[in-house]
Amino acid sequence: MDLKERLNQILEALRQRGHRITPQRMAVLKILAESKNHPSVESIYQQVRQDFPTTSLATIYKTVTLLKEIGQVLELGFADWGSRYDGNKPFPHPHIICTKCGAIVDPDYASMQEITREMARKSGFAISHHRLDFFGLCPKCQSG
Ligand SMILES: [Zn+2]
Ligand SMILES: [Zn+2]
Repeated sequence: MDLKERLNQILEALRQRGHRITPQRMAVLKILAESKNHPSVESIYQQVRQDFPTTSLATIYKTVTLLKEIGQVLELGFADWGSRYDGNKPFPHPHIICTKCGAIVDPDYASMQEITREMARKSGFAISHHRLDFFGLCPKCQSG
């Protein structure tokens, strides 16, 4: 989704719930709205600190947690590497993860709805969300 459009969605969701938008919080939102690389809280912190040197890691955590609570960011928890976040697509979708450098990309997932429907039909479950991760080596790590 377009960065500006996505950013406005997040801002709207925060405003509706009466949350203040501080400049630091805005910086976090911008990073997450783009979030093509699914950043960790630490990497968001490093980026925000370039413009706001007094920002604390706790502030970043609080903002990310708030966004997660209101459904505006998707958390990808990994036992080995901790959590990474997608604020561009806050709904469940598959990911491809490089086991060497930790790169995470969103694959084309056009058939996910179909798969979900099929699973619901066969299992009798009312499926609310899913988690689908593919692991391997990214193009850069394959040639390196
Ligand atoms: Zn890699
Ligand atoms: Zn993603």
